[in-house]
Amino acid sequence: MKDKTFLREQILGHLKLYSDLGVRYVSSPQVQARPTARKYEKRSSETPPMPRTGTPSAAPVVRVNASMFDEAPSGEESLGAIQAELKECRRCKLAPGRTNLVFGSGNPHADLMFVGEAPGADEDAQGLPFVGRAGQLLTKIIEAIGMRRDEVYICNILKCRPPGNRNPEPDEIASCEKYLFRQIAAVKPKVICALGAFGAQTLLKTTETIGRLRGRLVDYRGSKLMATFHPAYLLRNPNEKRRVWEDMQIVRDYLLSMNNPDKS
Ligand code: URA
Repeated sequence: MKDKTFLREQILGHLKLYSDLGVRYVSSPQVQARPTARKYEKRSSETPPMPRTGTPSAAPVVRVNASMFDEAPSGEESLGAIQAELKECRRCKLAPGRTNLVFGSGNPHADLMFVGEAPGADEDAQGLPFVGRAGQLLTKIIEAIGMRRDEVYICNILKCRPPGNRNPEPDEIASCEKYLFRQIAAVKPKVICALGAFGAQTLLKTTETIGRLRGRLVDYRGSKLMATFHPAYLLRNPNEKRRVWEDMQIVRDYLLSMNNPDKS
């Protein structure tokens, strides 16, 4: 009986999240078709198929004028090697104020990589990305597309917490972003999801608003990039969850089409 109550609460919690995210229907056959075993194989260099069209979430993979970002760095470097190099990092003025450097966490060969802005207080205390309230919402967003948090890779543009959670400054980004690019090259995700205006603008080197950047996949460093709203923004603006759900469906469908080319 206790188990049933627990299960009921879990199901209601999930349904509430879907509803909050603007989900109107669940297409279970697609979600069930998602293979989980591919994770550790190398990607082929073939042109990926376009996502299915004609579904509510399908959107074209748009090529923006971003050829400078379209290059996949060549090296075969492990995340461990990059992390070891950063361990005692003193390259910028954030180092003295940190409790822990927050390198990243998750599947080192993930198809899907999330990039946030910078660690907050919780992340600084634990040395892990997205472990506070925004992180809990991010976990729900990941689960809403039928994945588990440990299947994806999560990191930030900055590895150390800016004082008072202020915005990262240009010199801090300049010191840190090369390590992010090396993380991307090591993980080789099929899709990078940039969380928030700051993350998206920094990665895409643009001042375009997140409202205009979100909603489509663009070529980026040998992967696709989807910009979407930051979970912390969603906590303040729950109405925008619907848009994030739209973005995440595009990501989900693209990953499905890559992993199941015959079904696309
Ligand atoms: N916000 C971010 O951008 N990153 C974190 O790790 C936590 C909150």
